Amino acid sequence: MIIQLCGLSGAGKTTIATNVKQKAAAFGTPIEIIDGDNYREFLCKDLGFSKEDRCENIRRLGFVASRLSCHGVICIISAINPYDAVRNELTAAYEHVRTVYIDCPVNELIARDTKGLYKRALLPEGHPDRLTNLTGINDPFEAPRNPDLHLRTDKKSISTCVNELFGFIITSAARKNNSSLRVASV
Ligand code: ADP
Repeated sequence: MIIQLCGLSGAGKTTIATNVKQKAAAFGTPIEIIDGDNYREFLCKDLGFSKEDRCENIRRLGFVASRLSCHGVICIISAINPYDAVRNELTAAYEHVRTVYIDCPVNELIARDTKGLYKRALLPEGHPDRLTNLTGINDPFEAPRNPDLHLRTDKKSISTCVNELFGFIITSAARKNNSSLRVASV
């Protein structure tokens, strides 16, 4: 199974994914987090933040996830993943892809600003430190219309969000295994 997260910077993707991974490990279920920031340092080093590059980034993460997931590893792709078209591409290309929207309003993200990115994006035009491609401020984010799971991290605690995603994964995995068993027994 592949869980493709999407959501703005600071919304809580890494926090939730890391906690879900720890929780699953305690039940003996391995989860691999395919983290956009990590992969940008290695496999996706050549990519920038244009629409084309952001989409290509997701395609590569999706490909890695697909190789692992066909051996039974549950993969969580943790990246902003802002475009509908490439999210749909992954859903169509691979089996058992689920889209999870990690949602938080921009005002709350500006208040959190854990990485200082919003402060930089909101600097006046022409300022040397100004970021010009921060998703949600000056780069687009297409909110998924029908995500398989929608978590509002401004309204729910970290532990509630972690439990909801963990529960969703366990339920989806059980459904997937039941349907494979049914196919196998026909
Ligand atoms: P992202 O990976 O989406 O950029 P991070 O997980 O790195 O976001 O940062 C999210 C920040 O928001 C963390 O400082 C985390 O403690 C905080 N936070 C507050 N509430 C929540 C919540 N319900 N779920 C996830 N993170 C939350």
